[in-house]
Amino acid sequence: MTSTVVHLPGGLHDAEGRRHREAELMPLRGREEELLAGASRGTAELVTAVLAGRLRRIGSIAPVTEGTARDLTVGDRQFLLLKLREITFGPDVAAVVSCPWPACGKKMDAGFRIPDVPVRSGGDGPLFDLELSREAAPVDGGRAHRRVRFRLPTGGDQEALAGLVDGDPAGALRALLERCVVAIGPARPPEAGWSETLSPRARAEIERAMAAVAPGPELTMDARCPECGRTFTLPFEVADFFFGEVHASTDLLYREVHYLAYHYHWSEAEILGLPMDKRRRYIELLGEHIERLNDAVG
Ligand SMILES: [Zn+2]
Repeated sequence: MTSTVVHLPGGLHDAEGRRHREAELMPLRGREEELLAGASRGTAELVTAVLAGRLRRIGSIAPVTEGTARDLTVGDRQFLLLKLREITFGPDVAAVVSCPWPACGKKMDAGFRIPDVPVRSGGDGPLFDLELSREAAPVDGGRAHRRVRFRLPTGGDQEALAGLVDGDPAGALRALLERCVVAIGPARPPEAGWSETLSPRARAEIERAMAAVAPGPELTMDARCPECGRTFTLPFEVADFFFGEVHASTDLLYREVHYLAYHYHWSEAEILGLPMDKRRRYIELLGEHIERLNDAVG
């Protein structure tokens, strides 16, 4: 099966501390389309399952398990989804969005080409250090602790906090900080809830430092509303968009499986194991073949 080699903007560190950045990615198969059609799981879990199913290797790490896909940083996962979308449906992204100007709200087109998306490379990692400002440093026993050590948020964090994000975004952010900050001052962060003792300023400084070293694609689209003439930069949610596209074609999936099974006598598992473009190619060939037969009879 054809695969594409891409270079992760961040990379994955193995147990020996080696960083792996080369990833081999294969196009979406019927199996993932079916998984996304069922979609009883949250988006972060689906991203994990889809990436584990379609990554042949990351550096010398193979096979890529769900655990491995979960350990990737959020930015690397977004980058991989973007590439997976490119090798599955092509490089052009066309979205219909609502004009964000409150008095307008008209539908408008927004789009871009995936190869044009700027991708920021990450720092070395996996751990990063930052020095809090004097004003922000927490004081403990008369001593100010300015040194903070953190790691970047991963798919595992996204999965763990998925339940919080909608109902309590501030709580989700606090919980994320608690998971990603490894040490403040000489001590590892104490028991759960330690982030409550941080000042808003300290939290903001840590969040800013995380954003500054986070790798990944810049997921925004520029659009101009033809109705009111205003221009906007809109966020692009790659997982929601891509999975939505896949979802839209799942009605066809079972008809295609049926058609191929009926004519070729392949098993359902074999057909679902084909990449989407290959499945469609066989259907085209069958169609031409059946047409020729009909012509011969007629
Ligand atoms: Zn408008």
